[in-house]
Amino acid sequence: MAEYYLGLDIGSTASKCVILDGGGAVVGSAVVPAGVGTSGPGRARDAALAAAGLAEEAVTRSAATGYGRHTWPGADAVSELSAHALGAHATFPEARTVLDIGGQDAKVIRLGPTGRMEAFLMNDKCAAGTGRFLDVMARALELRVEELEAKDAEAVSPVSISSTCTVFAESEVISQQAKGAPLPDLVAGIHASVAARAASLVKRLGLTEPLVMTGGVAQNAGVVRALERELGVAVRVSPLAQLNGAYGAALYAMRNQDE
Ligand code: ADP
Repeated sequence: MAEYYLGLDIGSTASKCVILDGGGAVVGSAVVPAGVGTSGPGRARDAALAAAGLAEEAVTRSAATGYGRHTWPGADAVSELSAHALGAHATFPEARTVLDIGGQDAKVIRLGPTGRMEAFLMNDKCAAGTGRFLDVMARALELRVEELEAKDAEAVSPVSISSTCTVFAESEVISQQAKGAPLPDLVAGIHASVAARAASLVKRLGLTEPLVMTGGVAQNAGVVRALERELGVAVRVSPLAQLNGAYGAALYAMRNQDE
């Protein structure tokens, strides 16, 4: 009988699901912008199963990761760090540093040559430098987070955002806008602020190249470019970006099947 492995990443802001076939190829995936404590996880699972053309019974084993991983019965729970390390190593076997910026935290993981996690650092205390910062700023500027990247590309002279606190930075952005700062320059300044926070986390752990970026914020090329400028190195973006944790969880379920 064909085997399928399901990985669910129950995040703070979004639920992600990836389904692998017995050979480890992605056969279905889904992202639902609703996280832990909502119908998001169930909807993400159902949408990924539908994309793969599978019924729930076809799944051999499941694993859950993310903030809400313990809220999902019937699945192995795998830590976010392990899931992200597994996913990034499978996508980029040469990756040595993984930076994941999600909706509520940012983490940086150093991998050994075989993909084993050697060290990590996490910022989960402060919204600055996370997707939440971008969500707040986008709302203040009446944009969707998906629109930030295109605005950034039009920037001429990024506005410097001096506050590191999200609440103060939001007031600063609003007052700069009232003074007539062009929208693209404001957006580029916001991206530079997120990149500066992420870069300092990476530098505190120590940067070993190549650096791979994952998580929802990796879909924003404006942040990726700002990070490259800040660190002076190329940043590789996982094609699975926001799905990387769910992909790692599915790989975990596949490897755990004989236990
Ligand atoms: P979590 O696992 O904590 O739910 P994710 O890794 O799913 O976090 O990332 C969520 C964040 O990604 C959001 O806060 C948002 O800022 C950003 N994001 C989500 N989708 C997009 C997109 N299409 N383009 C740019 N940024 C996005």
